[in-house]
Amino acid sequence: MTGLAIIGSTGSIGVSVLEVVESDPSRWRVVALACGRNAKLLAEQAIRHKPRIVAVADEETARNLSTIITASVGSNLRILVGEAGLRAVATDEDADTVLVGVSGARGLAPAWEAVKAGKRLALATKEALVLAGDILIEEAGRSGAEILPVDSEHSAVFQLMRGLDPAEVRKIWLGASGGPFRDLEEAAFVEVTPEQALSHPVWKMGPRITVDSATMMNKGLEIIEACRLFGVMEDRVGVFVHPQGLVHAMVELTDGVMLAHVSRPDMKGPIAYALYYPERPMGRLAPPDLFGAEDWSFEPADSKRFKCLELARMAIKKGGTMPAVLNAADEVAVEAFLARRLNFSNIPQVVESVMNQHEVKHVKSIGDALEADRWARDKADGIIKEITLRGRV
Ligand code: MG
Repeated sequence: MTGLAIIGSTGSIGVSVLEVVESDPSRWRVVALACGRNAKLLAEQAIRHKPRIVAVADEETARNLSTIITASVGSNLRILVGEAGLRAVATDEDADTVLVGVSGARGLAPAWEAVKAGKRLALATKEALVLAGDILIEEAGRSGAEILPVDSEHSAVFQLMRGLDPAEVRKIWLGASGGPFRDLEEAAFVEVTPEQALSHPVWKMGPRITVDSATMMNKGLEIIEACRLFGVMEDRVGVFVHPQGLVHAMVELTDGVMLAHVSRPDMKGPIAYALYYPERPMGRLAPPDLFGAEDWSFEPADSKRFKCLELARMAIKKGGTMPAVLNAADEVAVEAFLARRLNFSNIPQVVESVMNQHEVKHVKSIGDALEADRWARDKADGIIKEITLRGRV
């Protein structure tokens, strides 16, 4: 049996991971779970899977959890809190595989701990690679940890590259659905509401990544993620818009051949691939319907309307702390948009102003990346206040 720890067990990825695990109970033992503040769902998961330890964000959630769990089964479960709790879950000695599926910069510290401890890291949190991918990969080389992508496009590329000589690969292509505003004129972007931005046409995901899909910042972050994971420069990562969401990635070879990865858009596919690698798990998903009524279409991504794509390319070209700054500024701007303090067009404006004020430094440690993250959040907050005061919302 393989011991599994899940960071972010109550989020959309975590819930899918537990579905994969439940369908093969003789293979997986859930040893540790961590989440933020959803005590009710974590309690259900803990009662069902019986981990030895769980970690939550704060004392209040820990108390709520303890009340529910003791009332239902009485338990000697260890409940931990805060960063120390996350570290304990990420490095638990019975965990062979650690799945990190929380969104945002807070996924970096547990990913780093898991890599240092030499675990297999199934990584759904793209921000960890965006902030500090180079040092994560370097540390994995030292500790013997494996980093397996759970982001669907990167899982697709990883699968396509198996058995290829990297010298045969000319370019990596990431698929994008184009989001809900694929055909919307730029002039109409200021009118977009949070409700509209939160209705993604293909994937069901958390709020930040859904808004990031609407601005295409998600694809921008994925370009950076691909550069880190596959060791290529930004100009060798292309994006194609494919609204049907069946072709997730392609790999262009030096002889002009393109290999494509085709599957139904269901996160359980990439999750299972990372958990079972190098095996290919049986019968996880039905194949896509080749002869379905829908036509399959491909278009180039429009980086004039979706400026976040260009900003992300700029950030990885500058390197160092700039990708962390891009990500943090975007995270803060998306929160402000969801709170109706910014309009949709303001999101790339805030990110660009923060990037323009940043002096790039090397990322030699996780601390360097997190410091740039904090700096960018403060800057973004200040810029958002100015925009709100000017009444541009
Ligand atoms: Mg993705």
